[in-house]
Amino acid sequence: KETLLEIKNLKTYYPVKGGFFQRTIGNVKAVDDISFSIKKGETLGLVGESGCGKSTTGRTIIRLLKATAGEILFEGKDISKLSGKSLQAIRQDIQMVFQDPYASLNPIQMVGDIVAEPIKNFKSIGKKELKTEVMDLLQKVGLPEDAYYKYAHEFSGGQRQRIGIARALALRPKLIIADEPVSALDVSVQSQVLNLLKELQKEFDLTFLFIAHDLSVVKHMSDRIGVMYLGSMVEISGRKSLYDEPLHPYTKALVSAIPMPDPRRKANRIVLKGDVPSPLNPPTGCPFHPRCAVAMDECSKTKPILKEVKPGHQVACHLY
Ligand code: SF4
Ligand code: MG
Repeated sequence: KETLLEIKNLKTYYPVKGGFFQRTIGNVKAVDDISFSIKKGETLGLVGESGCGKSTTGRTIIRLLKATAGEILFEGKDISKLSGKSLQAIRQDIQMVFQDPYASLNPIQMVGDIVAEPIKNFKSIGKKELKTEVMDLLQKVGLPEDAYYKYAHEFSGGQRQRIGIARALALRPKLIIADEPVSALDVSVQSQVLNLLKELQKEFDLTFLFIAHDLSVVKHMSDRIGVMYLGSMVEISGRKSLYDEPLHPYTKALVSAIPMPDPRRKANRIVLKGDVPSPLNPPTGCPFHPRCAVAMDECSKTKPILKEVKPGHQVACHLY
């Protein structure tokens, strides 16, 4: 299958201001030189604890944030430096589903208008046709017909996320970046929303970048999974290989934390010490070394680069 999105050496840094004159005194390297690609129709899961740069990666790709360096090739074309009209045009092809469906939905707009808005912005379309189109979208995401005339607050969290999904689908995008789309929802409705996304993927021929902080959510969604730690991609591989034979010590800890029905698995639980260090003052060498149980001398000195150690399985760790 052909590649839809290719990220090359992407960096997104935020300036940090300080001192009396609020001058830039440094950079937070939220995304620090990552590369990966997504094929058409594929779902790439992106996992890691919060503060590892997953959302920043998603927001940089959709150009809500500006890349500091690197390339974002969408259908072979670098979109990282687009501006004005040409930037607007990519919004038709790339859409985002946000974590908090309530905060991202206008409270004083009827649901029908929320979903219609992107269509109105991009297409010249008659009123009647537009309404038919919106009704059709609402039905496709499993909302009742009268949802059109209601407001977001009249819906449950799961239904609100369906509204957000309908809006994201309105322009028939090719790529959807879903940033923790079920993290704010009750466990009981999470799988319904995940199943809906899977159905829509087939029906609309969608490609997903699916961001989540835990591996159990991405498991059923992803074909391949990338693991981020402190702005770096530390491991990336096919789903099965990542769950069955994780290589990076960080991934091993994440995999061991997945709740298992088998109580024997508990004994192997790897508990991570401490929190993710501040990206303002990242560790030298391997970003994971202060928390790594198997760190060696070299680990605090040189940063390991991502390399393929098995077919389709890349890891950034000096052990390999
Ligand atoms: Fe641990 Fe060293 Fe591998 Fe980093 S490079 S994960 S510190 S063993
Ligand atoms: Mg996030």
